Amino acid sequence: VTTFNGKKVALFGLGGSGLATAEALVAGGAEVTAWDDNPDSVAKADAAGIATADLRHVDWNAFAAFVLSPGVPLTHPKPHWTVDLAHQAGVEIIGDVELFVRERRAHAPDCPFIAITGTNGKSTTTALIAYILKTSGRDTQLGGNIGTAVLTLDPPKAGRFYVVECSSYQIDLAPTLDPTAGILLNLTPDHLDRHGTMQHYADIKERLVAGSRTAVVGVDDSFSSLIADRVERAGTKVVRISRRHVLADGVYAEGSSLVRAEAGTSALFTDLAGIQTLRGGHNAQNAAAAVGACLAVGVDENDIIKGLDSFPGLKHRMQPIAKRDDIVFVNDSKATNADAAAPALSSYERIYWIAGGLPKEGGISSLTPFFPRIVKAYLIGEAASAFAATLGEAVPYEISGTLEKAVAHAAADAARDHQGPAAVMLSPACASFDQYKNFEVRGDAFVGHVAALEGVTMLI
Ligand code: ADP
Repeated sequence: VTTFNGKKVALFGLGGSGLATAEALVAGGAEVTAWDDNPDSVAKADAAGIATADLRHVDWNAFAAFVLSPGVPLTHPKPHWTVDLAHQAGVEIIGDVELFVRERRAHAPDCPFIAITGTNGKSTTTALIAYILKTSGRDTQLGGNIGTAVLTLDPPKAGRFYVVECSSYQIDLAPTLDPTAGILLNLTPDHLDRHGTMQHYADIKERLVAGSRTAVVGVDDSFSSLIADRVERAGTKVVRISRRHVLADGVYAEGSSLVRAEAGTSALFTDLAGIQTLRGGHNAQNAAAAVGACLAVGVDENDIIKGLDSFPGLKHRMQPIAKRDDIVFVNDSKATNADAAAPALSSYERIYWIAGGLPKEGGISSLTPFFPRIVKAYLIGEAASAFAATLGEAVPYEISGTLEKAVAHAAADAARDHQGPAAVMLSPACASFDQYKNFEVRGDAFVGHVAALEGVTMLI
């Protein structure tokens, strides 16, 4: 990034994207002084040729900007000490997304840039949009909170499309965020530990759409709906998204149908019914938002429909991984608490449910509305006995212990189920750390056990 060429920049946070950001700044001619509370990260930066110094003992007045990495508290529960020092010296505090938007403005202001935020569904929607753009033959860069640091993407140039997932934190550190199309999917109380109040959290998210040329806003919750109205009154073009209401203008889902409405006239856009990777009302919201954003950046309808139809889904998020007769095997390892497991349980009818792991507060009592869909539960890990107690008489279960046994038993039981399509699903409603390094390793283990079953056709 060249916007700080010849200037001094302080940077804190050298894990993951922090180091990539420091390197991009240095490559663009900035004089970076980097630091981290973790000596290992500092050593890594040293090895990479980044100048490091304890930011407690440097002259902050010399810095043109302070770049803060994700994970360092900006406000809540209390600001990091570096934030106090930057404030005292009057140095602006920004993040890597802000560096990216400045770079884009300087070099290729017309290259389409789609930014996505919301409480839930960000990664799915981001991946879906990038997939639609790619399959339509466009030069597509996918990054941000979803994984790849934005500054490691190919640099902005005319005709290149950017699809960037933004956390609240990244928006907070991007004061001039100006996407071509900005998506706010939904806003529900979450992450409040970090942002204080819901209003503050909503205000941060609002900035992403307020700065957009076209704002694509899910209006099914009251916070987002008010934001859509406010942003529209301020003169931004708003495309409303709903999975619950018929809209006079916007893109909405009616069952599995996606409908596009303009000036009171509506037309079926496409039907999601046959698309395994986009099952469930939550995915209808994600797909509708993707449609709204893709239309806003000029993708034609047929290309969007083609992309939706063949979307492979995201790993570990309600991902159909294999089939055997009319049984589908679903990897939803990302569901690390009961709330996260709810969408998957609501999206299938006859479920052989593999659940458990390291239990979270509240257990699975909030999932009782879905119990009638569960043919049998296969419980693993430390949570098994607590989950068994909640299932009680309502749902047949076994304590399988390990994932391998759970898969074998669930698959065998499902094979004897001749009452219609069934799903063998890992949607654990628990963290993985009692048996696995993380949810990705757990999901991969599930895939491995399923692949070892006789007669399955892998879908991935
Ligand atoms: P995020 O990136 O915002 O964490 P993901 O796309 O990774 O969201 O999805 C994580 C989980 O959140 C999914 O497995 C599903 O359970 C749930 N989810 C996805 N989309 C939505 C949505 N639009 N509304 C509510 N929940 C959703």
